[in-house]
Amino acid sequence: MLFSCGIHPLYLDKNNKINLKFLKKLAQENDVIALGETGLDYYYQKKNKKEQKYVFRKHIQTSIKLNKPLIVHTRESIDDTLSILKETESKTCKGIIHSFTGNISSAKKILDMGFYISFSGIITFKNADEIRKTAKYIPLDRLLIETDSPYLTPVPKRGKENQPSYLKYIADYIVKLRKINMEYFTEITQKNFYKLFQLKDKK
Ligand SMILES: [Zn+2]
Repeated sequence: MLFSCGIHPLYLDKNNKINLKFLKKLAQENDVIALGETGLDYYYQKKNKKEQKYVFRKHIQTSIKLNKPLIVHTRESIDDTLSILKETESKTCKGIIHSFTGNISSAKKILDMGFYISFSGIITFKNADEIRKTAKYIPLDRLLIETDSPYLTPVPKRGKENQPSYLKYIADYIVKLRKINMEYFTEITQKNFYKLFQLKDKK
């Protein structure tokens, strides 16, 4: 089994420094392949921006040091997220922006940094036209999909708890949106996964 470890921006507390020390240790384990979720969330928490940025930067430093990619969470905070990722020290970091809901212009900046972009069930929601536009724009060799379960259940399972097997609905949706075939899409997203997380393709 493979893991990622991180302190989510919505789970910060007064023990951040101790937790970060523990994180650094844990991240060195061989089966930990990524750092995250980390990032910024100004939708649910606006009051502790400084603390969020501090913890995010610490994840970036660990990610560079260990050469393990970042899984970045960003909500109503894309500008700060991008500027922190662009700081000198983070020039060499790699990763993915997960459950992306931004427009084409932010997507461009993310792609320019060499990051991948992942879409969740949000793409199937009625009011997600802007996100669908972005999803049409992303080169397929930089795109991944996820459920983010138990949240963000895709159509047609709205109202139920989300689960990993519902990934198929997100895949179906993107295949139609991009007018490509499923075999090609699964092959390329698998390749992207192995490349991003620096794993050997077991096929
Ligand atoms: Zn998240």
